[in-house]
Formats: sequence, C-alpha cells, structure tokens
Amino acid sequence: MRKTKLPGGEAVPVLGLGTWRMGEDRSKRKTEVAALRTGIELGMTLIDTAEMYADGGAEEVVGAAVDGRRDEVFIVTKFYPQNATRARMAAACDRSLKRLGTDRIDLYLLHWRGDVPLRETMAGFDDLLDAEKIRYAGVSNFDIDDLEELARLKDGLKRVVTDQVLYNLERRGVEWDLLPWCRKRHRPIVAYSPLEEGLLSHRDHPALKVVADRHDVTAAQVALAWVLRDGDVIAIPKSARPAHVRENAAAAEIRLTKRDLAELDDSFPAPSDRKPLETR
Ligand code: NAP
Repeated sequence: MRKTKLPGGEAVPVLGLGTWRMGEDRSKRKTEVAALRTGIELGMTLIDTAEMYADGGAEEVVGAAVDGRRDEVFIVTKFYPQNATRARMAAACDRSLKRLGTDRIDLYLLHWRGDVPLRETMAGFDDLLDAEKIRYAGVSNFDIDDLEELARLKDGLKRVVTDQVLYNLERRGVEWDLLPWCRKRHRPIVAYSPLEEGLLSHRDHPALKVVADRHDVTAAQVALAWVLRDGDVIAIPKSARPAHVRENAAAAEIRLTKRDLAELDDSFPAPSDRKPLETR
C-alpha cells in the first residue's frame, strides 16, 4: 500500500478504512469485522472511527477487528465538541480506549468545532499526549479560518497533524485554499466520504464510466484513485463488504492519466472561488 508522511516523518497508508454506520446492528458485526480485517490484510491499516458512531458501537467493532494485531494498525478516533474540555476529553478518551480494547489511540481528532475555546482543547491534547494515551492530535471539519486561529495559538499547529474533511469528485471546495494551506505546512488531509457515501460507485455518470472502462476498473475505484492522485491525501472509504474493500484497496494502484484527469475535471469542475467548507 502506498504511504504518505505525517509531520515528524511517520508513514501512514494513503487508503484507510471508514466505520461510520458500523456497530449499529449486532447481527452485522461478523461481516463488519471481516471487512475491516480484509482491509488490514491488504494494507489499509489506518482505521477511522468516532465515539459518535453507533454511540461507541463502531469503536467496539474496530476493537474486535484489531484484536491480536494492534501493532499493525493506526487507529484514528474522534471526540464530540462538547467533550473538548480538558476534563471531558480525558474521560472521553478513556471510554474510547476501553471500547477499542487498547492502551493508545494513534490519532485523536476533535470531530468538529464547538463552543470550547481551542486553547482549552489544545491543553487537553497536551495532557493526553503526555500520558501517552494518544500519539498524535488533529481536527476534523475545520475550515481555513479555524486552522488560522489554531495556528495563531502558541504551538497550536505543532500539535495538530491533520484536518479530516469532506473531499471527493463532487466536493472539491477544499482545493481552493484548505488543501494548499495544509500542503504548505506538510499536513496531509484525510478525505472523508471519498465515494460521496457510495454515490460515486454508480456507473451512471458518463465521465466516470469512460475512465473506468479505459482502465477496466469500477467507478468507485476511479473516484478513489482520483482522491489519491497527488499522493499526499489519505482517503478512508467505508465498506462493510469484504468484496468492496478488496476493490477499494486495488484503487491505490491505479494511476490516472492527464487525459483521465482532464475528462474528470470537465464533469466535476474544480472550484473557481472560495466556498465555506462543506460538511456532513
Ligand atoms: P463513503 O466512504 O464515501 O461511502 C460509503 C458507502 O459506499 C457505503 O454505503 C458503502 O457500502 C459504499 N461502498 C464502499 N465501497 C464501495 C465499492 N467499492 N463499490 C460500491 N459501493 C461501495 O462514505 P462515508 O462512510 O460517509 O465516509 C467514509 C468514512 O469517513 C466514514 O465511514 C467515517 O469513518 C468518515 N467520516 C468522517 C466524517 C467527519 O465528520 N469527520 C464524516 C463522514 C464520514 P458497503 O458498506 O455496502 O460497501
């Protein structure tokens, strides 16, 4: 699996595994765990989850999937904005660790910006980093002004290694300013909903179909290869089906040509001005 680097030099795979909507139905757990294990075996060892997903149920699925292979994976989880105070972060982190069945979270993200001052959340991150309960800190759904505010805090940006944002062929707004801003500071972004919640896997879009046919791959694979085209963006497609996970993993091998990219640009245009960050 291709990799990119976090600030500090640690390499992480460019394709990981999403878990939103996992853990909601006990009868599906076996398949969900199997899908995550399939991904881990194929090198998609970055697993994204959150305390929010299924009220912690998704973290439990991740815990089951990584049981016995904790050292092979890079676990990302997120806490609610209302838990972004020092005291509440400590408690939320302990709950997540328990559900994940581990002693450390590799990357801990503020899920979205709330009312707690950023300075307080940064202090909470410091506590957790010092206690070695988390290895890296980050944010999600931060628009450029939030990142700027963060960067103005003493050591603010030093702590934060990524911004996890909505990014796919249909949602290219971050290319205007957020993606270049992060690139300049050597922070990879994590692209969530890279398949636009599955919509981009349908072959009824003419441009996707043409490019997919040219490479003899699926529309979903083209959509993922497009997110990965520059090598420094991490995509975390979610699939609860091992067959889809295998298909997604293979997308990392697809190199889109200039012609492919130009055709996709025609159908899914790049932003022509600044827009507020889109979120789910
Ligand atoms: P997504 O990954 O864009 O799409 C997931 C959907 O695509 C599922 O319905 C899945 O169905 C389907 N799918 C996956 N691979 C496929 C394939 N090869 N062919 C056809 N269909 C395929 O959407 P997402 O779940 O919203 O985003 C991915 C992850 O990002 C989430 O799971 C979560 O971890 C994270 N996320 C973060 C935020 C945030 O605020 N930070 C927000 C949203 C999502 P099957 O399961 O049936 O394969």
